Amino acid sequence: KKLGIALVGLGSYSTYQLAPALQDTQHCYLAGIVTGTPAKEVSWAKKYNIPRKNIYNYQNFDSIADNKDIDVVYVVLPNSMHAEFSIRAARAGKHVICEKPMAINVQECDEIIKACRDAGVKLSMGYRLHSEPYTQQVKSYIEEGTFGQPLFVTAEAAYVSRGNPDQWRLDIKRSGGGALMNMGVYSIQSAIYGCGMNPVSVSAQEFSTRPEYFKETDETITAQFEFPNGTVGQIMTSHNASANRLYVSCSKGWMELQPANNYGPLRGKTSSGPISFPHESQQKLQMDDFSRHILEGAPNLAPGEMGKRDMIIVQAIYASIAAGGKKQKLDLGTMGLV
Ligand code: NAD
Repeated sequence: KKLGIALVGLGSYSTYQLAPALQDTQHCYLAGIVTGTPAKEVSWAKKYNIPRKNIYNYQNFDSIADNKDIDVVYVVLPNSMHAEFSIRAARAGKHVICEKPMAINVQECDEIIKACRDAGVKLSMGYRLHSEPYTQQVKSYIEEGTFGQPLFVTAEAAYVSRGNPDQWRLDIKRSGGGALMNMGVYSIQSAIYGCGMNPVSVSAQEFSTRPEYFKETDETITAQFEFPNGTVGQIMTSHNASANRLYVSCSKGWMELQPANNYGPLRGKTSSGPISFPHESQQKLQMDDFSRHILEGAPNLAPGEMGKRDMIIVQAIYASIAAGGKKQKLDLGTMGLV
């Protein structure tokens, strides 16, 4: 059986990444859409051969509960809408994929996790890199200790934002934050899988050079993590610079991905030579992995707890900045590590 996925929110990520990837997936397919734009109902139905009964808008969305074609709802809306639509999907009895960042605060993450648990449905984050071979290779080098103990990790995820000043990513109410909520989540993720542990503290700094454009949201943030065995981490995220990298210095060598978090192909090297894998759509791999979790009990590579853990770290980074860079303790244990 192939699972039927409904995409909620047909913006650029759904249009240019997810819908095309769903044409190649083996364990799921694009069965339905949820959109607030009537013109997209027509154009998507035609392009992807979606039956009228599998098309919803934001008002009639809850009646998706009665639709047997839809097994999974994939929430691809602005960040402030993730919680509402993930919870409504769970209550409709559908498995949920929630885009990153999971929500705009930790309380909303808890509400999503509870709604999915109460409804007995599976929940995954849209963290495509956990299904991506270069990232998986780094994780297994760390797990196996191939290069010894990680001593220092640095992770950067940033791009230059220009254009429409009214876009939701610059609006604090709809985004919940700027670079940190958007690309910062990738640097947090990289730092954690680059050393295989959760941090125990964080200190952070914010920089602003174009306040006339970034009126409400953070432009550039750097942060330093302490990890349990003394490993040191440094992350950078920005909407005003280009950077895309993970570097891990270990006791017996090093590894680097650059780019580390774009749609690929990624590139990797280590102190023993290059890493190389054939390129495949990360989104295809991600949606197939989650489908295999639902269908066959394969591991959930990016569970809700991972999204919540990252939001706890995001909030600690904002708290550190608000406190003039003061170190914030984190008590995460093994939360979200897979
Ligand atoms: P987008 O602006 O291109 O699309 C957003 C969609 O939401 C549009 O179709 C828009 O019509 C709809 N929408 C509904 N209500 C809205 C409102 N009040 N304001 C603005 N738009 C509204 O954004 P996107 O790039 O597709 O991002 C959507 C989500 O996907 C975000 O949470 C983003 O972080 C995430 N994302 C993830 C990745 C990834 O690699 N995992 C990549 C891109 C985006």
